[in-house]
Amino acid sequence: MRLLILIMLLVSHGILSAATSEQKDLENWQYRWGDSPFVDGKPVWTMPDQESHADWQSIPKPTYPPDRQGQENIWYRTTLPDINLIDPVVFISSIDLIAEVYLDQQLIYRFGEFDAEGKGEYAGWPWHIIGLPDDFAGRTLYFRVYSDYTDIGLWGEKKLLERSAALLNILNNSHSDLVISAFFFFIALIAFAFSAMRGDNREFIYLGLFSLASAGNLLGESQALQLLIYAPLAKTYLAAISYFSIPIFIALILNYWLAVQSGKLMLRIAQMHMLYVVLCLVLTLFGAWHLAHFYPIFDMLFVITLVIMLWFCIRHFTVMNTEQRLVMGAFGLYAIFFLIDMIIAHGFVPWVNFPLAFGGLIFALILVVVSLRHYRQIQLALKELNVLLEQRVSERTAALQNYVLLEQQRANQLALINDFSLRLETLISRLQPSQSLQQAGNMICQELHKVFAPLQLRVSTFNEFADLSPNSVLNDKYRIEIDDLRLGKQTFITFELLDLSTETSEMRQVIEQFIFRAIDRLSVTLSGIKHREDLHIMSFEDALTGLKNRRYFDDALQRELQLAERYQQSLSLLICDIDNFKQFNDRFGHDAGDMALRIVASLMLDHFRETDIPCRYGGEEFVVLMPAAHLQDALDRANTLLEKIAAKKIVYQDKELGTLTISVGISSWDGRGDIPHQLLQNADKALYRAKQSGRNCVEVASP
Ligand code: GH3
Ligand code: MG
Ligand code: MG
Repeated sequence: MRLLILIMLLVSHGILSAATSEQKDLENWQYRWGDSPFVDGKPVWTMPDQESHADWQSIPKPTYPPDRQGQENIWYRTTLPDINLIDPVVFISSIDLIAEVYLDQQLIYRFGEFDAEGKGEYAGWPWHIIGLPDDFAGRTLYFRVYSDYTDIGLWGEKKLLERSAALLNILNNSHSDLVISAFFFFIALIAFAFSAMRGDNREFIYLGLFSLASAGNLLGESQALQLLIYAPLAKTYLAAISYFSIPIFIALILNYWLAVQSGKLMLRIAQMHMLYVVLCLVLTLFGAWHLAHFYPIFDMLFVITLVIMLWFCIRHFTVMNTEQRLVMGAFGLYAIFFLIDMIIAHGFVPWVNFPLAFGGLIFALILVVVSLRHYRQIQLALKELNVLLEQRVSERTAALQNYVLLEQQRANQLALINDFSLRLETLISRLQPSQSLQQAGNMICQELHKVFAPLQLRVSTFNEFADLSPNSVLNDKYRIEIDDLRLGKQTFITFELLDLSTETSEMRQVIEQFIFRAIDRLSVTLSGIKHREDLHIMSFEDALTGLKNRRYFDDALQRELQLAERYQQSLSLLICDIDNFKQFNDRFGHDAGDMALRIVASLMLDHFRETDIPCRYGGEEFVVLMPAAHLQDALDRANTLLEKIAAKKIVYQDKELGTLTISVGISSWDGRGDIPHQLLQNADKALYRAKQSGRNCVEVASP
């Protein structure tokens, strides 16, 4: 605001006069080492009568006075020329380090505080406007200066001019600095905005910090800032610290772009300068040293740094890519700007206002362009990567889902088969105690579908073993076969699964595997039952004739006797003995005898009723139990049997061996009175009598 009012003031009143008014550089300088004594608060050296010509030496400018020899106090003086000014002032760019200004004996301006010994603290490097009275012309202006710094004196412009012209000069000198500093702020803003975006954006952070440091440095050095805030030391701190920081960020930027080529070199340089800034802050803030001292050392360091960096860039220029070359080119230019600025600052060439800031600005702008380009490329690459990644992820997800699905299916299959197995085991354990194959078969017909639930099943059994050749009628059906001792493998049960079309092929395969396992288990179980049944039958059957044997007969006789007694039913018993069988054997051989026995047995089986029980009692003797048969029935039956046997021709190996006869003894109970427990013995006695009576006849036991 103050600046704005000032500018308006200048524009409205003095701008024309300022532009056209006279101004003059102060010349004819003289200097004198040491400090003046004071009398009544007035410096003795300003008094005309105290003056000795030999004490004052001429010097072209109040800078670099010769023969310093560790001196820290000096006086300069000049005579003010006579020019026409309304509001006369002296403008001085900078003073090393503090000063008092006297017009003749009168103190008219003071910068810094002198103590009793003529020394004082560093107070920054502001510009100075020293107001003069109207009658200044021809009077002498004295500068009492103290400096423990390398330089001692007045720096830059030293002019006599209109106050408004001085202010205008300040604005003129500053405007490019202000504009460029605003630019730097803008670049910093952009860079920080980009650094906040995704990806590795260190280049933007460094660029932002570099721009901020450059802007701070320009602002700290710009003369106009002093018009707004008069805080010379703070302003100098701003200028110094930001200036000292610039190489840190340059090194970090180079490190970013040249990491491959530079290794740790740039990082070390950045660290060194960081240390320097920290050292500077610590030492100055604790009052150990003042800020001015840090400038020459920094300049030395910076020159070395710049030379190393430049040498490095030139050395690796050929192996850099376009981006790197652009960055390096910009840096090279900036470095040259810096070197020239330093040459000027240290007075190796006459002082000119060198546009160092432009070098920085060009560097920053090129960095902006390159970084943006780089950023765009990275973003594009990221985008492509993202697309690829998404594709990969979706592929992997699909594969995983598929895997999960398969696992689920597998688990379901396992669960189903597990259920099947458990139920199969239950069925088998229930089958085990079955008394007969038929009973087991019935159970399977009723229960097998439960094993395979929820699958639908159709089951059929073969009551008589089906003589089915494999693969003929039973296509598409599963067969449960059993081992028969005589006939070999026989199909006993067939079943089919009704609808498997909804199942996957893999599931069908798993089910089928289980079915074959189930068939094996059932076959083994059924075969076991069958064998058991066979064994049981065989133990009551006569192997040669197929008739029941004597063991069976003994049981049957007891049972039938009890039944007959309980129901008061008649019961008859026959004993038949082949006549002269020994002779037959002797004549035709034992095998022919066996054949004859089988023929007789088969005749007997045919001859008696279903309820009658013919058994082979032993050798060539047979017994027949006839429940509910009266004596007459038994007698009739025996007589007709006699006839049948006598008529039957025995054929063995296609040879007729003649006929055989039998003798029969009958014992019978008519169901009344006490049951005769000697039934068998009685029948045997009757048989004996039949033999006695000449054979081929029937005898009845006496009651
Ligand atoms: P009889 O008319 O008195 O009954 O005279 P027999 O020769 O029939 O009676 P005997 O008791 O002297 O002889 C019975 C014969 O039956 C003796 C034996 O050689 C024969 N035999 C017994 N069991 C078998 C058999 O299983 N097979 C054969 N081939 N012969 C048998
Ligand atoms: Mg006999
Ligand atoms: Mg006999």
